[in-house]
This record gives sequence, C-alpha cells and structure tokens, in this order.
Amino acid sequence: MSSRHGFETRQIHAGSTGPNPEKALNPPIFMTSTFTFDSIAAVDDVMSFRSDDYVYTRGNNPTLRLFENRMADLENGVGAVAFASGMAAISSTLFSLLKPGDSVVAHKTLYGSSHSVITTLLPRYGIRSIIADLTLPGELERKADKNTKLVYFETPANPDLSIIDIRQIAEQAAAIGAKVVVDNTFATPFLQRPLDLGAFAVVHSATKYLCGHGDVLGGVTVSKDMDYIHELKFGYMCEFGGTMSPFNAWLLLRGMKTLSLRMERHQENAKKVAKFLLQHPKVSKVLYPGLTDHPGHETAKKQMSGFGAMISFEVAGDLSATSHVVDAMKLPALAVSLGDCETLVELPAAMTHRGYDREHLAEFGLTESMIRLSIGLESVVDIIEDLGQALGRLS
Ligand SMILES: *Cc1c(COP(=O)(O)O)cnc(C)c1O
Repeated sequence: MSSRHGFETRQIHAGSTGPNPEKALNPPIFMTSTFTFDSIAAVDDVMSFRSDDYVYTRGNNPTLRLFENRMADLENGVGAVAFASGMAAISSTLFSLLKPGDSVVAHKTLYGSSHSVITTLLPRYGIRSIIADLTLPGELERKADKNTKLVYFETPANPDLSIIDIRQIAEQAAAIGAKVVVDNTFATPFLQRPLDLGAFAVVHSATKYLCGHGDVLGGVTVSKDMDYIHELKFGYMCEFGGTMSPFNAWLLLRGMKTLSLRMERHQENAKKVAKFLLQHPKVSKVLYPGLTDHPGHETAKKQMSGFGAMISFEVAGDLSATSHVVDAMKLPALAVSLGDCETLVELPAAMTHRGYDREHLAEFGLTESMIRLSIGLESVVDIIEDLGQALGRLS
C-alpha cells in the first residue's frame, strides 16, 4: 500500500505483509506463544536480527506485526510497537526516553494515570517532572531546565479539551534538545498526525477510537525513527512485558477499518450536541474545540482536519445539580473510557482523574463539576432529546 493512497484505503489495507493463508480475505489470528525453527542456523539468523522470523509472541507475532505496520502507516511513521494497554505504551515510552537526572515537561491537563506516572513514578527514579501550561506562549522556555529531555502532552487534552500547537512546541523543544511525545488518543490519525508536525513519537490508548467498540484494551507507540522503535520494542516492551494479545490486535484491525467513517459521524453528532448545550439556559460552560469561542479553536483548525467528538461542560449550580443531571441521563452510559459507539458520560474529577490533588484541581484545568461526554453513533436527535430531558430536571 503506497502513501499515495487515501486514508480510507490505508485503514483497510496498509501494512499487509503478503497474501493470507488459504486465500482468506481476513488475516488469521495467530494465537500462539511460541514459533518453531528449522535449524540452529535459522535460530542464529533470527537472534542476531538478520532475519525477522518470529520467535516468541512477547517479541513479535504476525497479527501484532500487521497491527503495528498499519498504525505506522496511518500515523505517517516508519514503525510502531503494540502494547497491552495505552498505559503500557505511555509508561514504557516515558521510561525509554528518560534517565536519572533528566527532567520532563508535561502539560498540566493529562489523563489521570499518565499524570501519576509523570508526577509520582518518574521522580522515584530520579527524573524531575515539571508541570506547565503549554497553551501559553513562551511557557516551555520559562519552565524547562537544562536537563529537559522530553516534552509530553495530549491535544486535545483529557478532559478540558485544551489544544496545544504541536509544530510550535516541537520547534521550541528542538531548540533545547528535547523530544516531543504526543498522546493522540482523542484525535486519532484520521484527524491529526503529530509526527508530520515534528513530534518524535505518538502514543495511543487504542482502547478508545482505534478500537471503537469498547471491547479491547490496547496501546501503541509510533515514530519516524526506526532505531528508536527497535529499542522500544526489544529494550522496553519485551522487558517490561506489556505485550498486546494477538486476539486484541485482530479486533483492533477490524475496528480500524471503519475509523474514518466512525470519526466523521462521531464529530458530526458532537458538533450538534455542542451547539445544543451552548444555547441551553442551564449550561454555564461548554468546552469543544469546534466552537469559535474555544481558546484553541484556531490552532485546532490549523493542525486537525476535524474537531473530534469529546465535549466537556458544566451546569449552573453546585455539584449536587451536576450529579442530578448526570443521574437523569438515560441514553448515555455512566462510564469511564471513550470513543465507543455508545455515548458515554462521566465526571472526570470523580472518575478518570480522581488521582489529582483535590485542593489544586483548577491548576490542572479541572473542576469538580465538569461533565465529560464521549459522543457516540446513536441518532443525534435521540442524544440531544435525552440531554434536554436531563437538563430540564434542574429548577
Ligand atoms: C484512556 C486513556 C489512556 C490510557 O489508556 P488505557 O488503554 O486505558 O491504558 C491514556 N491517554 C488518554 C488520553 C486516554 O483517554
């Protein structure tokens, strides 16, 4: 599959390494832990990387390789490493790029577990974590120290949907000798390709939109640097052992065939829901990068081909009014996670971002009463009607 082909073609065909056994249209799932050799000479070839035959599924497996090849292609990278979960990808990638004495600058708003790896685990190994607001001009130069080797952020960020200018941060990071890693979970490669904007690596929770059906945990790291991908795979993924199951890789490949279609409908629905919330008298705040008054709207327009389908909002009143509205929603499921066919609702401060220090929520771009919606693929008329009846309960 050549890069001349459109995204929609590549999400279905890219990365294939040859015809499937028995001329099957779809690849089989290689549920095997180990692979056999014909001779000791063949063993030598593989162990010294002269051949890329398979040895053991923790190192590689044909179903995992197809998933990695496809992700590398969709993100315009050269290689990828699959992981058991988004957190396995994120933690292994962070540990692979930092050593004692280094510092990492991270954006203040991050997925809860990523925040805790950066602010709790890394410092235990002598790595300083510096929290910054990367939406502010000049912030990286102000906050970075002479040991800064990595800049880490999500854009759009979870859950306040703040938008960070990837190209600008990549240029500033290069000037101080630091690499940039972007968590592209919310946008997916269909809407945004950070490697083309100067990021060194992209990480994903494949559990979300890439899977799209809420039935798999998975993660992946993609880069344009093949030596790094090799090191991440054999020096970190294999050693920490957060290997993806071949069955999960197969389900991800299945889900990804419709990524563009799902994202288009997800965001078409989200745009309508955001507009509905914006004009609702009981809604005090709506955060959606597609709204012209969102502080990151212009940057999002520049670096994304669409605004995604995550919306955060607040209702007028206290936390009990918020809980009342969420409890009254019938269609959206009250659940963590996102990117599924089903519309999901959650309270980040009580759920996905519970690990954040209560006293300082605002400094991290969070409030206790922020409601996060992952807009699904149901009829948007039904989604809006249900949100309307829930908001209507507020006096
Ligand atoms: C869910 C999520 C993660 C963690 O991924 P898992 O697959 O749950 O380990 C990381 N980053 C973002 C932005 C997420 O939404």
